[in-house]
Amino acid sequence: VKRAKVSGRAETYQTQDFAIARAQFGMETMLRRAIEDRRLRLAYQPICDLATGRIVSFEALARWTDDEGWAHSPTDFIAVAEESGLIVPLGRWAIEEAAQTLARWDSAYGGPCGVKLAVNLSAIQLQRDAIAPVVEAALASTGLSGDRFTLELTESAIVTDPDRIAGTMHALKALGTTLAMDDFGTGYSNLAYLQKLPIDVLKIDRSFVTGMLADRDKVSIVRAILSLAQALGMKTTAEGVETNELAQTLAALGCTFGQGYFYARPLEADAAYAMIAPATMQEMVSA
Ligand code: C2E
Ligand code: MG
Ligand code: MG
Ligand code: MG
Repeated sequence: VKRAKVSGRAETYQTQDFAIARAQFGMETMLRRAIEDRRLRLAYQPICDLATGRIVSFEALARWTDDEGWAHSPTDFIAVAEESGLIVPLGRWAIEEAAQTLARWDSAYGGPCGVKLAVNLSAIQLQRDAIAPVVEAALASTGLSGDRFTLELTESAIVTDPDRIAGTMHALKALGTTLAMDDFGTGYSNLAYLQKLPIDVLKIDRSFVTGMLADRDKVSIVRAILSLAQALGMKTTAEGVETNELAQTLAALGCTFGQGYFYARPLEADAAYAMIAPATMQEMVSA
């Protein structure tokens, strides 16, 4: 609750735990209303082919500015959403919103715009909701095909209820979607699940990428993940690609995709679309 605002002089006399609990409750109430009123937004960050630099997809990242103007960190409000159960409506909204955005991009483009959208699924959401029917309904209402979507799961989703998750993952694959393991390397250490589950992409956690050019241990970990993925027939995305040098190095190591501030920060939908839109007549004339 880094940015929760606690007001009133009495606060000074409350224990920190109480203040945190109260702030959290206030945040939950505001978040519930924001979800109901559809006042959350999605930001879109490009994921690029490291070899060519071409944008292959965008990751949809939830953004929330509350009634009082605070922009909350997703790490904070996703945690509150998970604790309160709000992750279920939030997660459904994210899938629907992403699908509507992609459908809008396609119609502006005059056909499939050539990129996928990646949506995050939380472990708690996967436990509590039936995700495949939600995705299926979003596809039906927009007319998009399942292969336009990637769903990002974390290792913690697999630890909690492996059988249920396996069922969900197979149902998502049957819809044609791509499945990515997010933040790979930071979670569960039993790797047996990697060969049992239909995972297409490993996303190498940012903590191994940041500073890897000056840290041989990090390079070793990245290499190990890349060869594991290759052996299992999976693609790889490096998170936290902040410099051209990192992009070059990761490409040379054989990593498939890169995502990070070097390419772009998470953007509003229109700005994201502008990165893939065909040049308009006007741009061509002024070029
Ligand atoms: P994530 O899925 O691993 O998303 C990548 C995070 O890394 C994003 O943080 C992104 O802004 C940040 N990032 C991207 N490139 C760079 C870089 O070059 N350097 C640095 N320092 N950071 C970079 P963000 O948007 O704050 O989201 C944090 C986390 O919140 C996400 O991590 C994801 O776990 C969760 N999250 C966000 N939106 C959703 C959502 O709709 N549903 C669920 N379940 N979780 C979400
Ligand atoms: Mg993610
Ligand atoms: Mg990640
Ligand atoms: Mg992360």
